[in-house]
Amino acid sequence: MLIGLPKEIKDNENRVGLTPGSVKTLTRRGHQVLVQSGAGEGSSLSDQEYQAAGAQIVPFAEDAWAADMVVKVKEPIASEYRYLCQDLLLFTYLHLASDKALTDALLASGTTGIAYETVQTEDGSLPLLIPMSEVAGRMATQAGATYLQKSHGGRGVLIGGVPGVAPANVVILGGGIVGTNAARVAVGLGAQVTVLDISHARLKYLDDIYRGQLQTRISNESTIEEVIDTADLVIGAILIHGGRAPWLITHNMLPTMRKGSVIVDVAVDQGGCVETTRPTTHSHPTYEIDGVVHYCVANMPGAVPRTSTFALNNQTAGYALRLANEGLDAVRKDTALQYGLNTYRGAVTYPAVAEAFGLKH
Ligand code: NAD
Repeated sequence: MLIGLPKEIKDNENRVGLTPGSVKTLTRRGHQVLVQSGAGEGSSLSDQEYQAAGAQIVPFAEDAWAADMVVKVKEPIASEYRYLCQDLLLFTYLHLASDKALTDALLASGTTGIAYETVQTEDGSLPLLIPMSEVAGRMATQAGATYLQKSHGGRGVLIGGVPGVAPANVVILGGGIVGTNAARVAVGLGAQVTVLDISHARLKYLDDIYRGQLQTRISNESTIEEVIDTADLVIGAILIHGGRAPWLITHNMLPTMRKGSVIVDVAVDQGGCVETTRPTTHSHPTYEIDGVVHYCVANMPGAVPRTSTFALNNQTAGYALRLANEGLDAVRKDTALQYGLNTYRGAVTYPAVAEAFGLKH
C-alpha cells in the first residue's frame, strides 16, 4: 500500500503520525511510505531518520496526501479538505461529533475516515485515546498550577500550599484516564483533591489506590454545585464515547466560583463540559469570563510532542500495519477498527456522530 505522512499544520501541533520506527515496520513488509519533508521536525525526528527507515521524502503536502492511506495526528483543517477523496483511507483523530464542517467535507468527498478516538476493544477501552489522555491529564494539573499564578490571571495560590497555609482545592470532573492522571499529579504536588464521576466503579478504584489522599463524590447537579464553590482549580475530564460532552458547569454557575479560580476543560475536544468553554490554542491558551480563567487547549499533548508522538505510535502502529496489509478487510475482521470507522463512501458509520447531526447511519 502507498502510505502518506503529511506534516501537521494545526497551530502549534508538533506531533507526527508515524515515527521512523513505525515507518520501518511498514516498509519492511513491502509498503511504500511518502513522508513530507520536515514532517517529524517538531518531534525532533529528521528526514534522514525517515529515509533510513525506508521512506521516500516528498517536498509538498499534496505529494504525501496522494496515497492510499494517510496517517496523521489531528483532524484535517479547512485548508486540507481539498486532499480528501473517495479512494482515500484516513487514519487519524477526527472528533467529528463537534466538527460539522469536517464531517460534511468527509461525506462530500467519500473519504473513508477511521477515527483514533473511537477505536474500541472488547473490554470497552479506547486504546488510541489512552496515551494522549495520560499526557493531557498530567499536563492539566501542570497548566492549572501555572494559571493559578497571579501573573497569569489566577488567584495567586500555590497548588501545594506551604506549611501553615492550605493547599489549592482541586476538583476533577471525571475519574477516567485524564482524571486519574490529573489526580496523580495534583496529589503528588500536595493539593486537596476531589474527583467526581457517575461511575461508582471508577470512584472505588481511585479510593482504593489513594487511600484517603483524595476524596471521591458521585457526580450530579448538586454535588457539582457544592464542590465548585470552593474550588481553586476545576479540571473537566469527562467523556461520552464519540458524543458531545454535556455541560456540567453552566454559565450561571460561574459567579458562584472563586474569583481567579481556573477551569482547565480537557474535554474541549468533545465540545467541553463547561458552557463557557471555547477551544483555545497553545499560542493563546486562556481567556476569562466572570472572573474565572478558562484554559481550553484542544490539543494539549501537542505541547510535549516528542513524548506524545512516541506514546501515540506505541498504540497506533499495529493498527496502521493491519490496515496497510489488508485494507478495508482489516476493518471487516477487527471489531476494534469497526468501531473506529466514522465515515465510509459518503455515509456516517458511527452512531454517536450521526446522532449529533441528526443523520442516518
Ligand atoms: P475516559 O472514558 O477514560 O473517562 C471519562 C470519565 O468521565 C468516565 O470515568 C466517565 O464515567 C466519566 N463521566 C461521564 N459522564 C460524567 C458526568 N456527567 N460526571 C462525571 N463524570 C462523568 O475518558 P478520558 O480518556 O479520560 O478523556 C476525557 C476527556 O478528555 C475526553 O473528552 C477526551 O476527548 C479529552 N481529551 C482531551 C485532550 C486535549 O488535548 N484537550 C487530550 C486527551 C483527551
